[in-house]
Amino acid sequence: MSRKFYITTPIYYVNARPHIGHAYTTIACDTIARRQRMFGADTFFLTGTDEHGQKIERAAQAAGKTPQEFTDEVSAQFRALWQRMGITNDDFIRTTEERHKKRVQELFRRIRDNGHIYKGTYTGQYCVFDELYVDAVGPGAPCPECGRPTETVKEENYFFKLSVFADKLLQLYTEQPDFIRPETRRNEVMSFVRGGLRDLSISRSTFSWGIPVPDDPKHVIYVWLDALANYITAIGYGSSHKGAQEAFQKYWPADLHMIGKEIVRFHCVYWPAFLMAARLPLPKGIMAHGWLLFEENKMSKSRGNIVRAETILDVLGADALRYFLLREVVFGQDGSFSFDALVQRYNSDLANGLGNLASRTLTMITRYFRGQVPYPSAAFSQSAGDNAIAENARKVIVECNALFDQYQFSRALEAAWGLVAAVDKYIVENEPWALGEKQDEESRSRLATILYTSAEALRIVTALAHPVIPDATSKIWSQLGLGDIRKLVLPELKWGQLPLSTKLGNVEPVFPRADKSAIERMQKMEEQQRGGSSTTQAQPDASTTVPPVATQAAAAPAAKLAVTVPDGKISIDDFAKVDLRVGQVKAAEKVKGADKLLRLEVDLGTEVRQVVAGIAESYAPELLIGRKVVIVANLAPRKLRGLESNGMIVAASPEGGKAVLAGFLEDVPVGTRLK
Ligand SMILES: [Zn+2]
Repeated sequence: MSRKFYITTPIYYVNARPHIGHAYTTIACDTIARRQRMFGADTFFLTGTDEHGQKIERAAQAAGKTPQEFTDEVSAQFRALWQRMGITNDDFIRTTEERHKKRVQELFRRIRDNGHIYKGTYTGQYCVFDELYVDAVGPGAPCPECGRPTETVKEENYFFKLSVFADKLLQLYTEQPDFIRPETRRNEVMSFVRGGLRDLSISRSTFSWGIPVPDDPKHVIYVWLDALANYITAIGYGSSHKGAQEAFQKYWPADLHMIGKEIVRFHCVYWPAFLMAARLPLPKGIMAHGWLLFEENKMSKSRGNIVRAETILDVLGADALRYFLLREVVFGQDGSFSFDALVQRYNSDLANGLGNLASRTLTMITRYFRGQVPYPSAAFSQSAGDNAIAENARKVIVECNALFDQYQFSRALEAAWGLVAAVDKYIVENEPWALGEKQDEESRSRLATILYTSAEALRIVTALAHPVIPDATSKIWSQLGLGDIRKLVLPELKWGQLPLSTKLGNVEPVFPRADKSAIERMQKMEEQQRGGSSTTQAQPDASTTVPPVATQAAAAPAAKLAVTVPDGKISIDDFAKVDLRVGQVKAAEKVKGADKLLRLEVDLGTEVRQVVAGIAESYAPELLIGRKVVIVANLAPRKLRGLESNGMIVAASPEGGKAVLAGFLEDVPVGTRLK
């Protein structure tokens, strides 16, 4: 019986449409799954969507939809994207599916029957954004995880006896050091658990969009218990079907849960504790990757800097995105995405690297040997250079496999591309095109050796890179006349297996060079997706100078108003068009690379807005948090340094002096209108 391998992505929360952050995790898992299949493992690769919780209920409401309609739509977007990218998941689970709901209830029952659930009363702060009870104190206190205001909740809840599992968890992390990778995440989790664990509220009764608690349907099951359970429900846990039970027996425990670092606690503390309480085997390992930043900033909806995968697929294709993310980012650490870097990497490594090696090698074999792989010649025309390439290839196979096994994608690809560079150099030094002009036996046999050596090295890089760039490598493989690359058994890959006299397929370029316009095209597509607000209005270039805030406040409305009243005065109706409101600063930070700008999150009572303000020289960001300010709330959004600013903070801007924020001597509620 063959070895099994079960790998999962986190199931993606459907409060937002898919972007390259989701694609990144999924690509890493797809690469691992493809490699496992090439090693002969019976692989099961699961992904899906997480669809319950208050955040979804509210997002659906805001969109004027039922939660089911809303989640149907967003979940379908995820499935469509994975299909378009050729992701090889074996199943796609939705937490709103019947099979999942029933099996989660079964898990709840089992944990309860084992004595680990009790009923109690909870009063405290809840962060709707993180779907998490937090330690913050007092109404509206900021969430320690995300800084958003928390809500006070008092309700009768079911509690999970998490506190009793602290020692068992610490023992797990100690005895199985690679249960959590990388090391930094493991250390964080251990110190969190050492700090003591409190029992966890695992039901809610203040909203209904969730899975009902068995025998007490007033309550719904905590969204994280619901979501984490997908890893077992999808493969048949809790089912009465024989086939499903067998699948669960076969694939559980998971070999790898791949996650982002922001959900480490849920996966490394709560999940194993739930499984221990249910007396189920624990997953073998959890790997947390870092964040994908956009030009060094965190991608987020409020910053308006989220990049969609579709844009890159349209312009450069899925392989380009896959290669870039796995080559550019050191797996486990934060990495940065930019269109410039993407195109640069695409051209240097794919178009000019592997693509060029394939087309020049195969074209010369076509021209000089009528498209048949030539015989490497007898010893008299072997040079040290030929043997060095063979030696290099043997080393790269070992190195590359070892690095892939440790999920060091970037270094694995670097090793494989080292061989590409070596063969390029070898070809240039040996000038096969010059030999091709000659007909004497020695020149012919030298030429045969050089082209055989190049083609064999090409075959090896193609095989090693297949899990990362499946499309292009499939094409190169069939151009090499080798048929279906999926039949390749990777552990058997060795130097010298390229069959002689193999008839090449049609030689076509696999990575056409991208020019500068590719960057502009992708940027434009993304801007249009973000609503086009920044393209409809001519804005001063924020990267050179930032005008003082108060003049910004006047500029946009005044230009229009001046038309109606010729003497420079405006009517009360004109003034009423400006929606001035009291806001409270919830978060503030410097904008990287801009000395004058601060990025603020301002609570307007009904919503939290991102505002970029030119007051960094006047106020330290930490002094602004909690401060009440006056906001022009109906100003058209504008972009500053790539960040969308929704509104403007009113300040006095003395000539040559520092800006001073407008404020109030008496206390005034957030959201109050000024008129
Ligand atoms: Zn939060």
